[in-house]
Amino acid sequence: MKILFASSEVYPFSKTGGLADVAGSLPVALRALNTDISVITPLYKCVKDKFSVSDTNFSYNIPISSKFEVAKIKKIYFKEVPIFFVENDNYFYRDGLYTDGTKDYNDNAERFIFFSKVIAEFSLSNNYDILHLNDWQTAMAAVFLKKIYNWKSKIVLTIHNLGYQGVFWAYDMQLTNLSWDYFTPQLLEFWGNINFLKGGIYTADAITTVSPRYTKEILTDEFGFGLNGVLKDVENRLFGILNGIDYEEWSPELDRYIVQNYNEKTITEGKRVCKQDLLNSFELTPETKKPVFGIISRLVDQKGWDIIIDALENILQLDVKIVILGSGQREYEEKLKTIKNKYKNSLGVYIGYDNALAHKIEAGSDFFIMPSKYEPCGLNQMISFKYGTIPIVNPVGGLFDTVYDIDESKDGNGFRMKNYSTEELIEAIKRAIKLFKEPLKLYGVRKKIMKLDFSWTSSAKKYIELYRRLVIDES
Ligand code: ADP
Repeated sequence: MKILFASSEVYPFSKTGGLADVAGSLPVALRALNTDISVITPLYKCVKDKFSVSDTNFSYNIPISSKFEVAKIKKIYFKEVPIFFVENDNYFYRDGLYTDGTKDYNDNAERFIFFSKVIAEFSLSNNYDILHLNDWQTAMAAVFLKKIYNWKSKIVLTIHNLGYQGVFWAYDMQLTNLSWDYFTPQLLEFWGNINFLKGGIYTADAITTVSPRYTKEILTDEFGFGLNGVLKDVENRLFGILNGIDYEEWSPELDRYIVQNYNEKTITEGKRVCKQDLLNSFELTPETKKPVFGIISRLVDQKGWDIIIDALENILQLDVKIVILGSGQREYEEKLKTIKNKYKNSLGVYIGYDNALAHKIEAGSDFFIMPSKYEPCGLNQMISFKYGTIPIVNPVGGLFDTVYDIDESKDGNGFRMKNYSTEELIEAIKRAIKLFKEPLKLYGVRKKIMKLDFSWTSSAKKYIELYRRLVIDES
């Protein structure tokens, strides 16, 4: 069984969020289980400037409306997995992946129609048995392969976040070179616009999301982003497989970014040292006896920033330290800076993207705050477990599947808000502070959560099972 995994970002080459983590580690886990898997992704500036890629014999002339754009395919091996990069400097040699730092590139429809066309061509050239697409940036490949080429191999489409669908104005149809006959509610049309993800959902052989709970939630008005009806239509081929964590990257015993490595036995001392270092990094007074709450998150509505901002001053008055790493919506950045000015010794804010600092926060915090409005899977709560850092969450999607309340369940591994509100966030944080004041109990919880296993192996096995089922259905 030959598989091609297509993603618009792949860690460590390119990353804006969890998709990159998945694309950088699921193929490696599949390879470790003897799967013949390759990855295809754009050759962005950040990759081209940093990694040396080799040439291949593959090159395509891709029609985009009335012109042709060239795609050269380059290659690198990453942990034994062949990674194929699509080179076209007009589209991909830019500072950002999707945005210029403030707003989306205005040719994103064209860039990812191009990428999807290349994925389709490359799949045809190499006779894959399975093409595994991810999110809207690759979804149109399913439309091209199934509708134009009548491709018989199977296509899996994973939705990592239904909030992002690749919706563009109808006239971008011309970039696809598809006939307007395909612009129907049963394929690409969505309230008068073109919707790439919708096209992918209707043409893929299986659709997956990244947690079982999210798979159910997206069928509702509340979480369906207008596609719940479409997803209902394909419910019989919709599956939920929880993401895993790459413990080579995220483990306090191996972590290269933290000042002191630690394990279950040495956590108390390890965390104390990492905490001191973390507070220093944020130029906060290093009072390690106070609980430290960490947040690493895109500053977008999804992640619960309205209630975090609303609760922040109340929480800071509880004699705690809070460190925040994130970037995104300008209004949240501004509000955080204003509150920071008022609480110089207890609030640390770093606006930007910084992988090393993310590691320091996981290791040096006592608790991790993640009150998402919706959360397809969420990686940071699982990463936090490994570092003995106790998550505080709004239990939706993957957070519902992975975090159980310490005060309510014998399997408790974190704190759950009872609903999405400022009051509930503060309430959950107060319960966390209470736990922090009981060192024996705190140690017990830390030891327990560090042992939890969210490695990729069991998820990878579920994907293999799905691929097999699809291929067997065919024969
Ligand atoms: P999402 O994909 O919705 O952003 P996830 O929890 O699934 O959320 O994954 C987020 C990933 O991105 C994690 O690995 C997290 O540490 C990382 N991340 C998010 N924001 C930043 C940032 N500002 N700096 C460094 N890493 C970040």
